[in-house]
Amino acid sequence: MSNGILAKEDLLLHKVNERTIRCKLCPRLTKYIREVGQTKTRKYIDQDYWAKPVPTFGDPKAKLLVIGLAPAANGGNRTGRIFTGDSSGDWLVKALFKTGFANKPTSISKDDGLILKDAYLTLTARCTPPQNKPNPSEISNCSQYLISEIKILEKTTKVILTLGKIAFDGYCNARNVKGLKFGHNKIYPVHNDKTLIASYHPSRRNTNTGTLTWQMWINIFETARSIINNK
Ligand code: SF4
Repeated sequence: MSNGILAKEDLLLHKVNERTIRCKLCPRLTKYIREVGQTKTRKYIDQDYWAKPVPTFGDPKAKLLVIGLAPAANGGNRTGRIFTGDSSGDWLVKALFKTGFANKPTSISKDDGLILKDAYLTLTARCTPPQNKPNPSEISNCSQYLISEIKILEKTTKVILTLGKIAFDGYCNARNVKGLKFGHNKIYPVHNDKTLIASYHPSRRNTNTGTLTWQMWINIFETARSIINNK
């Protein structure tokens, strides 16, 4: 890294991830991710699953902070990097690439050469929950990591993009923001100089049903890019 401030932020984010990987605060999730890693899905039966809390990643001077829900059972929980090796990651990274936040349009494995520029990806819960539904207590347990990352990235973040209502509520609770309503493409000013954008999550349930179309999705990233460029 080129300067002291950046190196410090990089180190702090790395420390958050180190704490996360060892975390066993949620017994239900700790048990579930281990079981998923042992049973596997047929498509990846020959692979070793990560099967631990999944680290977040991106640019330590991010202007765009993307907050998702939780790692996919056979995506991040398998590959060991969030939004990697699953359809939500495909949608997210393709959109990041098209709007200049990523050096390539795909996210396949931890060592695939993907580099994010001006963007950091994180989650509301870092362990895969059954049915993609973390309990309120699990979200609360995991919020300490999100809060730490928000603080570390505070100086550079211009836009916070939340994917789905759980992530939206997770951010609002973490920053004590009250009275905002979730909806797709809802845009709010927060904390003086920042903008909060709410989006539907790019889950298969939303993308396969047309609840979230590609055009709706890419519009969100074009908006984020435009806000960042104009600040
Ligand atoms: S969801 Fe978060 S708090 Fe719970 S065990 Fe996983 S990393 Fe720890």
